[in-house]
Amino acid sequence: MGAIRQDFPIFSSGIAYLDSANTTQRPQVVLEAMRAYYTEYNANIHRGAYAISEMATERFEGARQRLAQFINARSPDEIIWTRGTTESINLVAYSWGRANVQRDDLIVLTVMEHHSNLVPWQILAAERGAQIEYVDIDGAGELDLDGFAALMRREPKLVAFTQVSNTLGSINPVQELVAAARAAGAVVLIDGAQGAPHLGFDVQASGADFYAFSGHKMAGPTGIGVLWGRRELLASMPPFMAGGDMIRSVTLKGTTYADAPQKFEAGTQAVAEAIGLGAAVEYLSGIGLANIHRHEQDLTEYAMESLQDLGGIRIFGPPAGRRSGVVSFDLEGIHPHDLATILDRHQVCIRAGHNCTQPLMERLGVAAVARASFYLYTEKVEIDRLLEGLKDAKRIFA
Ligand code: PMP
Repeated sequence: MGAIRQDFPIFSSGIAYLDSANTTQRPQVVLEAMRAYYTEYNANIHRGAYAISEMATERFEGARQRLAQFINARSPDEIIWTRGTTESINLVAYSWGRANVQRDDLIVLTVMEHHSNLVPWQILAAERGAQIEYVDIDGAGELDLDGFAALMRREPKLVAFTQVSNTLGSINPVQELVAAARAAGAVVLIDGAQGAPHLGFDVQASGADFYAFSGHKMAGPTGIGVLWGRRELLASMPPFMAGGDMIRSVTLKGTTYADAPQKFEAGTQAVAEAIGLGAAVEYLSGIGLANIHRHEQDLTEYAMESLQDLGGIRIFGPPAGRRSGVVSFDLEGIHPHDLATILDRHQVCIRAGHNCTQPLMERLGVAAVARASFYLYTEKVEIDRLLEGLKDAKRIFA
């Protein structure tokens, strides 16, 4: 993976970037795809009768097709552009949720969810008088599968969980969980924010109903993401936002809506960002998700061993072979925020805090963690620099 680093202009600054679970860096091909749109054929889509508008529409829809291929959707019409995972999940909670979830219905989530796969459901449940139950984790930071099975016997209306934990790195057994949830009659949403960039996803093989992910966590731009939904479900759902572009016909008496995906894409879209994400997916596919995952596992193993050698450290989550490129830890006697500040002096970027997983922090019995996370461009020397910085922090706080 040596030459890959040169594809990312930001690394000429000399930073050790270990915060890719937060947001990734972008390769030149993505920046170039966006620059080309703005400088060569900038126009709104689906509207213009002139050449550059047609070209913009073609590239924008081409990106949708590329994303459909990436997750093996049956049709590009199942790909809805959103601003990211958060908006994708909110779309389902507002549109599908309000049309389907009733008083006393059960929603099943897990204690390892990111706030964006918790709060929209809590709001929905409070509004509807529905209940929420949470699947617990075991000592290794993996889902309690017996607890999950027990909740399925209560026939939940919706089951939503993450493919990969952004704090623990745990890779959930999606296939098995979806099969059990569908057999119980539930609709299943998977938060792919940390899964799509590192493992990819096959929506058809998974058996899930909804899959949500973000461009900025997979070498693409900010402000763009995807909601994939099963075609029949999307067809039955009311719009989320209303306005231009999502209609079939409007009169002063009322409106009929366009079919999905346009029904869910009101207003001018993030055209440059969609084209940029298309380029990112092409770039990642060229390298191969399996190669990316292997590289990350290698780094994770190296990081976990090096961190253990430091002593006085608690590493959260499963063994390296069963996780994605995420390592959260707690160094005895030093608050993660202090660690991050000292590491910044070494030009080492990590995340410190609750990682938008406050219930998981509570479950782990900590207020915050320090997190190093990796991607295809990460090098072992960056992990060595992290270690040097941590040793410095230990000296300072000794
Ligand atoms: N889910 C998970 C598991 C995440 O890691 C994140 C981002 N940290 C999100 C959802 C939210 O993604 P976004 O901020 O791009 O909407």
